[in-house]
Amino acid sequence: MNIRLRLANLIFPEVKKGIADLEKEFPKRQLPEGAMVTRFAPSPTGFLHTGSLFASLVSWRYAKQSKGVFFCRLEDTDQKREISGSGDKVLEELSAFGIIPDESFVSGGTYGPYVQSQRKFIYDIVIKHLIEQGLAYPCFCTHEELDHIRAEQEAKKENPGYYGAYAKCRHLSEIEAINKIEEGKSFVIRFRSNGDEEKKAVVDDLIRGRIEFPENVQDIVIMKSDFLPTYHFAHLVDDHFMRTTHITRGEEWLSSIPIHLQLFEAIGWEKPLYAHLPVIMKQEGDKRRKLSKRKDVEASVRFFLEQGYPAEGFLEYLMTIANTNFEEWRLDHPMANIFDFKLDFQKMSLDGALFDLEKLSNISKERLGAMSASEIAMNATTWAKEYQPEFARAIESDSHLFEQLMSIERGGEKPRKDYIKYSDIFPIIQFMFDEYYQKAIDEELVF
Ligand code: GLU
Repeated sequence: MNIRLRLANLIFPEVKKGIADLEKEFPKRQLPEGAMVTRFAPSPTGFLHTGSLFASLVSWRYAKQSKGVFFCRLEDTDQKREISGSGDKVLEELSAFGIIPDESFVSGGTYGPYVQSQRKFIYDIVIKHLIEQGLAYPCFCTHEELDHIRAEQEAKKENPGYYGAYAKCRHLSEIEAINKIEEGKSFVIRFRSNGDEEKKAVVDDLIRGRIEFPENVQDIVIMKSDFLPTYHFAHLVDDHFMRTTHITRGEEWLSSIPIHLQLFEAIGWEKPLYAHLPVIMKQEGDKRRKLSKRKDVEASVRFFLEQGYPAEGFLEYLMTIANTNFEEWRLDHPMANIFDFKLDFQKMSLDGALFDLEKLSNISKERLGAMSASEIAMNATTWAKEYQPEFARAIESDSHLFEQLMSIERGGEKPRKDYIKYSDIFPIIQFMFDEYYQKAIDEELVF
């Protein structure tokens, strides 16, 4: 038996299928010409970030406006960082904005499973194939050995990492590797890079245009010692077999592109198109910085849902970030559905989008002002049931009165625009309900 095949069989004795079987199992999607397949791929590590809602909105709209597919995949291979239940929460929060994936880890679909930890059988097939081809190899280096390599590189002022002559296990023969595995040594699998730092990896990003990076020379880990794949490898295999055509994701992934391009080329797969979206920033004094999960309430979509910003206002605000010509379009089409606007990658601003709470408030005011009385009453009731039970009880005590209150100064040339969010309503109108009226009087009498 070919020695590489022996090594591959030793590591994956159970894997009988090959890449060709996967190609048949997950064939190219039958979609109209030009249809885009996009995705949102959250890791279950916490709440839905405002930047992720923005990325999902953009990805979803591109899929929908081109009659394509938008799906949602859970990237849970880093099980140490996982917060249980957060994947489902993220989907729930997306759905509060009407963003419902065509396929997901909740609703399923024909290109599933949509949870990475359930896709191990697919990664194993691809890794086995790479070992057979000599494109991947087991690495037995311990943490101490890796520390030692790093110290040596620092001393010599060389680039850190596992590459070239520093990549010790790259130079082991297959027989040596087989012996170590049979001795029970723990290992990871690394990709054998054929990169050359002097050469360029080129990507034609749909938003940023042509970008060049030095090729990747690192032999990156593709399978960890727990036999689960790393992000770089897993997402790429998934995007291939889920037939993603356009990868729309945050610009923080741009610098990893040389690794991804190299993997696609090595395996011989067609590359998807890339659009790296601007990160949402915050102005602090005269500096701009990324919206921070720890420091900024605006980083969490939950904050806006709890406060009761109308979903349509929030989406509209995000559309102004998505395309620089959206606001002009809005002026010409004040009553149109925002999704009649066609997004265009070329019209996306390149420098980080600045989060502007005041602008969001103005748009929300406009959207709440444009709703009919029954519409705002219905939306406010739904919101109150979830976030302000006292308000919900008051509405329930006299829903007819509530709708009447909502119709005051509504419609006509100059509708009232004093509400920014649903949580603004109750403090203003509560005294109109008997119970609160009485309370207001009693309190007046007391003081
Ligand atoms: N799971 C990655 C994240 O949460 C997704 C990266 C990608 O979209 O490729 O950031």
